[in-house]
Amino acid sequence: MPLYEYYCDDCNGIFEAIRPMREASLAVPCPECDHEGERIMSSFTAFTFRDGYPRRIPDKGTFWHMGKEVKQRATRMKGWEHPELAKPKPTPRLTRGETRVTREKRIGARKEARYRDRWGIDKDGFPTVKTKTPEKPKRVLPAG
Ligand SMILES: [Zn+2]
Repeated sequence: MPLYEYYCDDCNGIFEAIRPMREASLAVPCPECDHEGERIMSSFTAFTFRDGYPRRIPDKGTFWHMGKEVKQRATRMKGWEHPELAKPKPTPRLTRGETRVTREKRIGARKEARYRDRWGIDKDGFPTVKTKTPEKPKRVLPAG
C-alpha cells in the first residue's frame, strides 16, 4: 500500500499514512489529536516546514524539505534544492589572484629552467656539466 501525506488543520502538522490507493483521498485521523487530516498533494511539500509552516508529525525537531528530512530550514536555496541535500561542492577553485600568482611562479620557474639548461648551470649558478680542463699534451722529448 502506498504512503500518502495528510495535513491536520488543528495541529498545523503533516503526517504520513499508509492507505489503500482507493482510500487515499479520504481523510485520515491525525495521530496527535485524532482530528481528520486531509490528504495533501505532493506540490505542498515543496517547502521546508516549521516555524509558521506545517510541522511534521511525529515532531522530531527536524524540518522537511521536498519530503526529505533536514536539520536546518533552508535559508538560501538554489531552486528547490536544500543545502543539506545538495551534492557536495567540487573542490574550491583558486581565486583569480591566487591563480595568477601560481601561474606566474610556474612560468618563472620554467623560464629559469630553460635559461639554466641553455647555460649549463644549476639553480645556484654553478655549471652542471663539468667543463673539462683540456689535458696538456705530453711533450715527448725527442730522443737524443
Ligand atoms: Zn492533529
